[in-house]
Amino acid sequence: MPKVEINCTNCGAHSLLQREPIYQGLAKTGEKLTCTACSFEYPSEDAVPFRHATPQNNIFTDADRSAKPNLFQENEAAALCRHCAHYILNPFTQFCSLHKKEVQATDSCPQFTSADSPPKPIL
Ligand SMILES: [Zn+2]
Repeated sequence: MPKVEINCTNCGAHSLLQREPIYQGLAKTGEKLTCTACSFEYPSEDAVPFRHATPQNNIFTDADRSAKPNLFQENEAAALCRHCAHYILNPFTQFCSLHKKEVQATDSCPQFTSADSPPKPIL
């Protein structure tokens, strides 16, 4: 987005730059750059006294961040079908190869066998 805020060298105001296209027939040949406060026309983009972006100081520190909420206990999700070695995932169903039935990833089961890695979809 082009910068629009200027410190006008003509009227001294903190003003805005107005860009008006200049047409020669139907072809755009340039832009007329004027101060919206005093209508002073700048000859070129280089002559426009754009305001420099004021540096934004970081007023917040990491100490202001709220503590990360811990909704789950460490072992709460441990016995879920999703983490079980018998859990089979494919695009159509989630299946327990031990009980030969459809399961949900968040089901849990007393015959849970920990899988070393999360299940990979079988495509
Ligand atoms: Zn001006």
